[in-house]
Amino acid sequence: MSEPLLDVRGLEAGYGNTRVLFGVDLQVAVGGVTALLGANGAGKTTTLRALCGMVRRRGTITLAGQRIDALATEEIVRLGVAHVPDGRGTFAGLTTEENLLLGACTRSDRAAVRDDFERLYGYFPRLKERRHQQAGTLSGGEQQMLAIARALMLRPRLLLLDEPSFGLAPMVVQDIFRIMRRVRAEQGVAILLVEQNAALALELADTACLLETGRVVLAGPAAAVGNNEAVQAAYLGGE
Ligand code: ATP
Repeated sequence: MSEPLLDVRGLEAGYGNTRVLFGVDLQVAVGGVTALLGANGAGKTTTLRALCGMVRRRGTITLAGQRIDALATEEIVRLGVAHVPDGRGTFAGLTTEENLLLGACTRSDRAAVRDDFERLYGYFPRLKERRHQQAGTLSGGEQQMLAIARALMLRPRLLLLDEPSFGLAPMVVQDIFRIMRRVRAEQGVAILLVEQNAALALELADTACLLETGRVVLAGPAAAVGNNEAVQAAYLGGE
């Protein structure tokens, strides 16, 4: 990989006295997609939280050559890192459009923000139909789309995407991944993707790492990780 967009070395993090990450190394290429795989409790969500400064962490985190490991979440967001948390975190009482506007709250280029509404509605026509509807009344799939669209309103360089398929019907998941492939190709946004559905994640990703109890135990091109026997057995139905 030429100089990665995101370069993480020796990342440690935890909650109170409980350590969860024990020296995680991972990279995301400029415009690339890295999948972070692993069983429940391996520390995937904690990795994303640590990267955006939401939990205490140690180690070096470099974004486009700049150290960000001592920065506050707000500063990291301003540098173009958008986080779509598990559980989505949309504001239930606000409309779709108001949620999208909040995603752009760090931007001052108002005309470009208006253009981005249309661009995002192009990717997510369902959100356009529901632009005046309260987010809390949207379906699970629509809320996931809104969470992703809101993050994209930041015009991020890097999207941290936590379990976008969680709790959704297979058709809706397919739809979301199809849109993500388009967004990636057209917007050049890099993605660090946490996903239980390893087959889908490996289809979208160029590279992948497997996390086990807070350590990366396997990393490499997505195809190679997908062909690994242990990954096949544990995450891909053991064919
Ligand atoms: P899952 O797919 O189940 O979310 P994960 O790989 O994302 O798994 P994490 O959510 O990062 O795993 O959790 C890693 C460990 O940290 C788990 O043992 C979990 O119980 C613990 N943990 C997560 N959040 C907290 C918290 N807020 N306080 C204390 N411990 C936590």
